[in-house]
Order: sequence, then C-alpha cells, then structure tokens
Amino acid sequence: MLQRLPAKMWTLCLQAALMATLARGSVSLRDNLVGRSQTSYNPSELSESKFLEYSNLSDKLHLREALGNIMIPRVVGSANHSIVRQYLVQSLRDLKWDVEVDSFHDHAPIMGKLHFHNIIARLNPKAERFLVLACHYDSKYMPGVEFLGATDSAVPCAMLLNLAYVLQDQLDSLKESKLSLMLLFFDGEEAFEEWGPKDSIYGARHLAKRWHHEGKLDSIDMLVLLDLLGAPDPAFYSFFENTESWYMRLQSVETRLAKFELLERYASSGIAQRDPTRYFQSQAMRSSFIEDDHIPFLRRNVPVLHLIPVPFPSVWHTPDDNESVIDYAATDNLALIIRLFTLEYLLGAK
Ligand SMILES: [Zn+2]
Repeated sequence: MLQRLPAKMWTLCLQAALMATLARGSVSLRDNLVGRSQTSYNPSELSESKFLEYSNLSDKLHLREALGNIMIPRVVGSANHSIVRQYLVQSLRDLKWDVEVDSFHDHAPIMGKLHFHNIIARLNPKAERFLVLACHYDSKYMPGVEFLGATDSAVPCAMLLNLAYVLQDQLDSLKESKLSLMLLFFDGEEAFEEWGPKDSIYGARHLAKRWHHEGKLDSIDMLVLLDLLGAPDPAFYSFFENTESWYMRLQSVETRLAKFELLERYASSGIAQRDPTRYFQSQAMRSSFIEDDHIPFLRRNVPVLHLIPVPFPSVWHTPDDNESVIDYAATDNLALIIRLFTLEYLLGAK
C-alpha cells in the first residue's frame, strides 16, 4: 500500500523514528495527559433512540450552499481569500459562536510577506476543555490554473460549517459547559513553492506555538483534522495509538449507520488492498507519516485524530480537484458520521 502513496505522503523513517523518540521521551507529559482527563474520558455510546434521532438531522442543501461559497480560488492574500474568510467568520457569528481571528505575518517564497488569519470558533470561550474539529481554508497557489481545491479543503470546511448549522439546537448547551466544541479553520496550509518546514502549514505552526506559550494546548482534548474529503471511496486508518479508541468510535458509528441502512449509496468501486465495505478501515497505519496541519500540535503532545484518506484522491493538487470529483453520497455519509461522533463525544458523558 505504501508504494501507492502520492508524493505528499512522506514515509519518512527518520521522522517517524524521531516521533517515536519524542513519544518515549515524554513520559511525564503523557502522565500529565492522564491527569488531564481526556485519556480517562469515556462517554457512553449514544442510546439507540438518540442515535436515530440525531441521524435524522441533516441539511444537504445547506452543505452544498456552503460549499458553493467556499469553493473558489482562495490563495492567501487574494481578494477571494478575504471573501471566504469573512463568509466563514460571519456564518459562525450568525450561529452565535464566539469567533476569534488569529492574524499574523510570515514570509513565503514567491509571495514575500503575507498576512495570514486562522479562524478560531468556540461555543464556550471560557470552557476548560475542547474537542477541536479542524481543516484548512486556503487553496493552493497554482500560477495559470484555476485551482478550486474541492477536496483540498473546501469540502471539509463546508462539512464543519454544516455541522454547526445542523446541530445548533443540540450543541446549545455547550455554550455554558466546561467541555465544549471548537472549530478551527487554519490558514496557509499549502506550500507556495515546495513543501518544507518553512513553506507549509503557516497557520498551524503559528497557532500551536502561540498556544504552547499561552499554556492553552492542555485545554485541547483532541484535534480532529479533516483533509482531502469529498472524493468517492475514501479509506481512513488509525495513525496514532493514543487516539485509537476514538478512531474505533468513528468505526462504530459507521457500523451502526450501515446496520440501520442510513448511509446513502453505501457501496464502493472496490479498490483493492482495503475493505471495500467500509470508510474506516480496521488496521492501523503506524509506519506512514503524513505532513499536515496536525504536526505542530502532535509534536507538542496534543492527541490527534487525522481524517485523511489513503491513498489521497487521484485529483490531489491537480486542476481536476473541482466539483466534478465530489461524490455527494460519500460526502453526506462522512458528514453524518462526523456529526454523530461529535455528539457522542460531547453529549454522551452521562
Ligand atoms: Zn493541498
């Protein structure tokens, strides 16, 4: 399977070894995590009646409308980038989320000095703990090409906005609770010249560093990063041992939905080397190492769940990553699984 991975997927043994060393060397930090409650946090599975009630909540038209507003070329620094940012900020403020725009400057190859803006939306800004759902809203700079970045990452952004819209009543109590929800829209995920430590994930690097200095990283129960979603037949894997139990919850939500026949056109074209009947595959993938917005957080011991399909969509970083690649049935199914997982995590506590 690894030889089928596209270029962005770096199976960097060296870096994987480094991560293993970091993990081994941070026993005391891990112990702190135990004290921090998320490793012992074990909300109950949604009851059948709640599961069915929440499964009925959806608004596919809203998802498409949100996608239409986001899926335009939106390179950092462009007028469209501001338009998309303002759309995300205003939509979340309209839904009564507390929205902070984290602005900063950095230098990028080709572009020079750029003004970046991460969007941080919280239901309760005073909460002690957060489940964080994240994606990036910038699109890749491709001179001479109208690159729309449908899967990368307009669909994930639309899914998160749609989740906030569809679940507004169910999430209302989280405006007061100690455990709350945060949506994070990273800026500057894409490299401008060539992917590397100083040319990529500008927003995530800035925010992880800032929150580290402010002592805010401990309030993140888990960072769930969505990327490259929307194409047909996605296959996900568990990348990290410390979030595997949460990955298995996603699997379990998928299984329950399939059992009740609540997933649309739930079939696949049958690509080999994986279970064609599932999105969330049963085997773990520990040896691979994908560079994405989660890295600066992972390196600072924030638990990460990375929802990125392997292999990547075939249209990845090509002009064909546009609406024609979107499989709306798979997109709606995934959005539903993520909504139910979120509700189970946040509301299944008692
Ligand atoms: Zn990309």
